[in-house]
Amino acid sequence: MSGANVQAGAVLAVTHLKVHFPTKRGTVKAVDGVDFALQPGETLGLVGESGCGKSTVARSIVGLVRPTSGRIELNGQEIQGLSADVMRPLRAQMQMVFQDPYASLNPRMTVASIIAEPFLIHHGRRDTDPEVCELMRQVGLDASMRRRYPHEFSGGQRQRVGLARALALNPAVMLLDEPVSALDVSVQAQVMNLLDELKRERGLTYLFIAHNLAVVRHMSDRVAVMYLGRIVELADRDTIYRAPAHPYTRALLSAVPVPDPVIERRRERIRLVGELPSPTAEIRGCPFRTRCPEAFERCAQEAPALQEHQPGQFSACHLNEQA
Ligand code: SF4
Repeated sequence: MSGANVQAGAVLAVTHLKVHFPTKRGTVKAVDGVDFALQPGETLGLVGESGCGKSTVARSIVGLVRPTSGRIELNGQEIQGLSADVMRPLRAQMQMVFQDPYASLNPRMTVASIIAEPFLIHHGRRDTDPEVCELMRQVGLDASMRRRYPHEFSGGQRQRVGLARALALNPAVMLLDEPVSALDVSVQAQVMNLLDELKRERGLTYLFIAHNLAVVRHMSDRVAVMYLGRIVELADRDTIYRAPAHPYTRALLSAVPVPDPVIERRRERIRLVGELPSPTAEIRGCPFRTRCPEAFERCAQEAPALQEHQPGQFSACHLNEQA
């Protein structure tokens, strides 16, 4: 599946990434062989239900979780296993923004100290008031509020503070883990517009993680759909929304409401019945077969590989395999 992972010129490339957690009941394969590459200026949407491993992918890229195996490269340089000193400047190039802006901001620090913290950690600098004010301006916050504490800000404003902090060191890649999921719908649109603007102005590359295909559609150039620790479909945005190839992608898309009420009334929803396998179960055959409305005999015997069945569209389903 090398085509899904065109590494030449990639800012970030992930190859055969596995993150397994040993537990008393067995091994949980949170991420089980994920490949993708992000080209400069691209946004890749990473979508799937809660627990599918998408956040663990991002956490392992920024070093919050240790990968079990696989390779992570930033601008062609392998980054796992490097010493802390070598890693520090590289890590500054990849910043993560979390879902819950309140939990990710220290409530005892002023917003100015929170935004200035990366300058202190990475460069030992304390005289950063002008930079803090400029970062606040860039994310649409009034710099006169910089001596206040996170609880004095709304959810949307707190997410803007988190973005200002992430931007402080001028990263190349932002890993956005459900950045708008905790916000009201009206505020979601504002933060997504801001993310769009920042990307254009600063030439950023995004990995945009969400459980909701509607949110990812607005932001992404390509979309990867994850199920039980694996990518089951990857394609450019228009292809995946117009002609989804994997039964799981079709089910996820059928749950997205359509703004036109006539189409919405006629819309066919695919209800996924059947159990998710236990997280520690050894999976035989296709991981989706227990819920797949199109499963057939071979699906219980053989796991489908992620294959390019049309130029640029990859899926892991026996139904799409070329004869
Ligand atoms: Fe469904 Fe079989 Fe395709 Fe898996 S391989 S998605 S079970 S049809």
